[in-house]
Amino acid sequence: MSSTPSTTSRAEKPRPRRGEGQWAFGYREPLNKNEENKKNDDGLNVRQRILDIYSKSGFDSIDPADLRGRFRWFGLYTQRAPGIDGGKTAVLEPEELEDRYFMMRIRIDGGQLNAAQLRAIGDISTTYGRDTADVTDRQNVQLHWVRIEDVPDIWEKLESVGLSSTQACGDAPRVIQGCPLSGIAADEVIDATPQIEQVYAEHLGSPLFSNLPRKYKTSISGCASHCTNHEINDVAFVGVAGPDGTTGYDLHVGGGLSTNPMFAHRLGAFVAPEQVSEVWAGVTALFRDYGYRRMRHRARIKFLIKDWGAEKFREVLEKEYLGYALPDGPAPQLDPGLQRDHIGVHRQRDGRNYVGFTPRVGRVSGTMLSRIADIAEEHGSERIRTTADQKLVILDIADDQVSSIVAALEGEDLQVRPSVFRRQTMACTGIEFCKLAIVETKDRGSQLIDELEHRLPDFPEPVTINLNGCPNSCARIQVADIGLKGQLVTDAQGQQVEGYQVHLGGGMGLNAAFGRKVRGLKTTSAELPDYIERVLRRFLEQRAEGEPFAS
Ligand code: SF4
Repeated sequence: MSSTPSTTSRAEKPRPRRGEGQWAFGYREPLNKNEENKKNDDGLNVRQRILDIYSKSGFDSIDPADLRGRFRWFGLYTQRAPGIDGGKTAVLEPEELEDRYFMMRIRIDGGQLNAAQLRAIGDISTTYGRDTADVTDRQNVQLHWVRIEDVPDIWEKLESVGLSSTQACGDAPRVIQGCPLSGIAADEVIDATPQIEQVYAEHLGSPLFSNLPRKYKTSISGCASHCTNHEINDVAFVGVAGPDGTTGYDLHVGGGLSTNPMFAHRLGAFVAPEQVSEVWAGVTALFRDYGYRRMRHRARIKFLIKDWGAEKFREVLEKEYLGYALPDGPAPQLDPGLQRDHIGVHRQRDGRNYVGFTPRVGRVSGTMLSRIADIAEEHGSERIRTTADQKLVILDIADDQVSSIVAALEGEDLQVRPSVFRRQTMACTGIEFCKLAIVETKDRGSQLIDELEHRLPDFPEPVTINLNGCPNSCARIQVADIGLKGQLVTDAQGQQVEGYQVHLGGGMGLNAAFGRKVRGLKTTSAELPDYIERVLRRFLEQRAEGEPFAS
């Protein structure tokens, strides 16, 4: 396998008429500010400056190119200064919006934690993060109110339990998503844990992949219900039964949401478990070399594969990066009756049980995370998992402990048997902390759950309601049944107020589709519960027998 760019031979190729800044065609001069920043100094190098200089000399000593660029390679963003309303988001400079505190994203590859790790995150949150913590829809935990002075101590505590914030953000390979039930689910196609661990061990923090054109999201999973959403990852290995009774992975490339949503392309190639790490490196190197670097909004791998198509992408991968052809393989199977979220009490294949439970829109706290670690241990479990839906799962519960652990979790308002609305409402960070946000999301989502539980207590069907604070799609609005994109809207008095553009009918799985943005479908935040109630009641009145809300 060749992961190193062979720029000599590619540089001799004729440049396309209008280049997109691909390294493989010799475009090595930075074509925009972000590329210049990355060329000047690798994102990974900022760690030493944080340890040696910034943590000792304080916020004002931080080089702006590090502060607003390379800090991301260690999961650090400045958070939004309190009190700046959404109307200012587009008109103020980034430095006018930012606070002197940081958001820190802790990567949890495969969503896999033991009780000591979860307790360590809880302790860090209470000590250094004002007791904030959110479980994200990429299985990370995000803290807020972090001071630069405390970052070395936080890293030391994380590393002492085998965790880190390295490449949790930035133009680099981010957390590897995995099914929380890997290795224990009775119906899984393959346990992807060894492949996740191998990719992590061989490639995390490698300078070969620390300067990609844009962020790069990976999923490796054998989950029967496809809970890691391979359709919207940059590269995804999806468990399949292969030839001769073997199991392996079907390779998908180029999914992503944001302002140009695209579903991943299936390459039709079968990847044996022992090949996953080198195929991952091949796809990633291909993206590094051929990815578009001229314009940041076209830099995700989805734009490359959209232009090339799956066939050419696979051919270049095999010829230039792997040096061998991958066999054709079967498409993944999916039971349409399976929900992806792993909520509730279910049997493991070893006869014990897993218990999936639901904080509100991913919001917990450091205190709560430590309490969850305690609850797990008190009931004989050492293993906790995060899900791709802002939820958590405790594994390995014996039958005689189930009712006790359910009571303990529900006593902390962590519902094991939640309403439809608690179960499937997600919200991004929003205006409370995010500099790009236009509207509030977490509290709004939580209040919406309460309202809908009160107004429609027996709503019978699964329905996903996702809230975003801006046109980006951190909470996956385009693939929700009801997706709410934060923006300013005009209220009945003609005032610009917080509100949402509504997208209807998105989803993944067998009927994957992006929600339709219907002209005129906007609501103010104040009217949101009324609006959603109307949509859901209309569905109940008009639906055919057995028709699900999700199309
Ligand atoms: Fe911030 Fe927008 Fe992402 Fe929400 S969707 S976290 S507001 S960038």
